[in-house]
Amino acid sequence: MTALRIVVIGGGFSGAAFAIHLLRDHPALQAELTIIEPRARLGAGVAYGSTDPQHRINVAANRMALFAEDPTQFHRWLEEADEAARDPDAALPDGRLYPQRGRFGAYMAETLDALAREAAPRIALRHLRARAVAVAPAGEGFTIALDDGSDLVADRLVLAVAHPPPATPPFLRAVPPAALVADPWADGAVGGIGAASHVLIVGTGLTASDVIASLASRGHRGTITALSRHGLLPRPRTEQAVEAYGDFATAPATTALALLRRIRATIAELRVLGRPWEDAIDALRRDAPILWRALPKNEKRRLLRHARAFWDTHRFQAAPQIDATVRRLRAAGQLHILTGRLRSVEPVAAGLRATLRATWTPRGGSAQTLDIDHVVNCTGPGHGLVVATSPVLASLAAAGLVREDGLGLGLDVTADNRAIGAEGRPHPYLFVAGPLARSAHGELMGLPQVAAQPRDIARAVARQFAVATS
Ligand SMILES: Cc1cc2nc3c(=O)[nH]c(=O)nc-3n(C[C@H](O)[C@H](O)[C@H](O)COP(=O)(O)OP(=O)(O)OC[C@H]3O[C@@H](n4cnc5c(N)ncnc54)[C@H](O)[C@@H]3O)c2cc1C
Repeated sequence: MTALRIVVIGGGFSGAAFAIHLLRDHPALQAELTIIEPRARLGAGVAYGSTDPQHRINVAANRMALFAEDPTQFHRWLEEADEAARDPDAALPDGRLYPQRGRFGAYMAETLDALAREAAPRIALRHLRARAVAVAPAGEGFTIALDDGSDLVADRLVLAVAHPPPATPPFLRAVPPAALVADPWADGAVGGIGAASHVLIVGTGLTASDVIASLASRGHRGTITALSRHGLLPRPRTEQAVEAYGDFATAPATTALALLRRIRATIAELRVLGRPWEDAIDALRRDAPILWRALPKNEKRRLLRHARAFWDTHRFQAAPQIDATVRRLRAAGQLHILTGRLRSVEPVAAGLRATLRATWTPRGGSAQTLDIDHVVNCTGPGHGLVVATSPVLASLAAAGLVREDGLGLGLDVTADNRAIGAEGRPHPYLFVAGPLARSAHGELMGLPQVAAQPRDIARAVARQFAVATS
């Protein structure tokens, strides 16, 4: 067999991590490795492509492990670049570093570049700055059409397209485009918002915190109201060193309720021990693949419905710098957090009127209106609609090669990361890297989980090559 033609659609963290492992770990592999990614920098994607200096990684650099066997490599890379002098706000008094997110993107790009130079010409890496618009099966492989009118063929295809912008909820559809920030991750997303504007942020998670920090850094004076169904902000980080505690993998729970009871009991034990609840979250993260697979699909659905908001706010915590800004604005009375459901946002003579039903009153809620100027949609990536909103995934679905997972998380995927098609059959050569494969793994969002999964795909592809050439 000649060089394997491997194509990756999407060159964010997951696509780049796949390439990094392929280049580094498989010395016998011969391949033409193409990454299709419209962004200039490989490895950045939505998370680490941010150019806003307020947007920081949300775990300390010494836990942003690209390589499990060398978890502090990124921290050392920052130290060598004298990050604390370059960006004094990145460093905490205890030495931990929370750099701007773009710095992790730069580290990824540099790592990939160095490995590609070492592996050439055995593996020839090229970056096609384009968008894939359609994929059609071609023999055992694929033909991929790009938005520049060209196409290319692949023997192996890795889908690493993860995060679509948030879906615009029906209650925001009447908002004129100039008053709506539909994609909070777009460059300069809040640039059009005047300093005195009353801003309504829909969502109270990490992206909402980022938007609040961006507004504050621009000298925003107007009121900011952030609204979500549970009104839960990301929890501040504990000062204590976190150490996984609890066992969720032995005889794993088979119902959502049993799992939640087990989590509560573990947290109660931690309280007695004087340990932070984060220890239980760390154990849950470690055991996630096992406990997730033990739940039948209806129980997975139930868990997502009842526990997702709590999981998101406890599992994902804001960078201390961002948390401090959020607290400051709240204490100053400029930022309000509301618990409720937004019903509508309609244009009125002086701006916009939001109607919401607050859910925090003892009698179950009351209708309320709010006069605002701008709305920012921070409801999170529109994973549930990803097949409909991504032309390339829609074409694969039409060809029967992928299907949604039925959980609103992304694509239906096997435990070994192969896409499952319309008839329930996994494709031997079509892989899904990154958060869209969460239906198979449960937790695939923060590092290092997202780093390990593309490594496994690289291993599977290299093994297929070895079998074919032996
Ligand atoms: C805003 C944000 C901040 C985060 N911060 C942290 C953090 O600080 N720490 C942490 O541990 N985790 C963080 N995470 C979680 C995690 O690191 C990310 O989920 C991870 O980076 C996922 O990367 P990805 O490559 O799978 O997806 P993405 O970043 O979405 O990358 C997908 C790439 O595919 C490209 N693409 C899409 N469609 C096409 C197409 N048709 N053709 C070609 N290219 C296409 C896009 O341009 C994009 O670059 C964050 C996540 C988000 C969303």
